[in-house]
Formats: sequence, structure tokens, C-alpha cells
Amino acid sequence: MNADPESKTKAKVVPLKGSKCPMCGKPATLDMRPFCSKRCADLDLGRWLNGEYRMPTNEAPGDAEAGLDGDEDV
Ligand SMILES: [Zn+2]
Repeated sequence: MNADPESKTKAKVVPLKGSKCPMCGKPATLDMRPFCSKRCADLDLGRWLNGEYRMPTNEAPGDAEAGLDGDEDV
């Protein structure tokens, strides 16, 4: 009776190719995507809850775009 216990303990962190954790830049994992770990997911959630992430539109609309430091490749 070999239950192969390893298969259970092994499948834990599955790195996702091409996806990076927005918090720390490590490869994201399947379980926690788009983050690499629960820790980063919690960090991100905390930011959201604290309202740190994206400032609510307190300032004049249209002014926000000028300050964006976008990395978009068009
Ligand atoms: Zn991370």
C-alpha cells in the first residue's frame, strides 16, 4: 500500500511563467496570482483597504494623466 504521500506535499507553489508579483516582482504562483505569495496578496489587500493604492479622484480630472509614470509600450 503505497499512498505516495509526496504528491500531496509537493504540489504547493506553482510558479506562473510570465506573471510577476506586482508587489515584489517575483514570479507569481498559481494559487496566489497575480501575487507570488499570500504575504504579498495580503500586503496588496492592505493597501487597498488603506486607500493607498490609487488615490481617489480628489484633484481635477485630466491632471492625473500628466503625473502617470507609465511603462506602456505602445
Ligand atoms: Zn510577491
